[in-house]
Amino acid sequence: MTMLKVANCPSCGKVYQKNIRNLCHDCQFVLDSDYTRCADFLRRSHKATTAEMSEATGVSLRQIHIFIKENKLPVTYYPGLTYPCNSCGSGIRQHNLCLNCRMRLVSDIRHMREQEEKVKERGVGFQIRDRERIRY
Ligand SMILES: [Zn+2]
Ligand SMILES: [Zn+2]
Repeated sequence: MTMLKVANCPSCGKVYQKNIRNLCHDCQFVLDSDYTRCADFLRRSHKATTAEMSEATGVSLRQIHIFIKENKLPVTYYPGLTYPCNSCGSGIRQHNLCLNCRMRLVSDIRHMREQEEKVKERGVGFQIRDRERIRY
């Protein structure tokens, strides 16, 4: 007898037999038909935006963003497609953050490092002063 590995479908929560795609049959079917609708739509409207596609196909923006990120709908072929920046939600076509957020992140990190340096310097200063006090 073979043991069946079952789990809850991460999409709809139903118990299903585990498979490579990590989705139950119903969800796989929905996902496939969502994808087909998107791909068909893009064949007709090559330059459509993500929002236009969602409206025309009825596929949720969230799902379309996943298709784009998984490169099932490659942005290199479809100039109108974007997905939201992880931080501010503005439409982007590469990385997880838009340019503004990436620049802000870099300057935040630099600022944090500077603060750390200052704290360290102050720490050293205290030590020296303490030593002097001991001497007198
Ligand atoms: Zn499911
Ligand atoms: Zn952003």
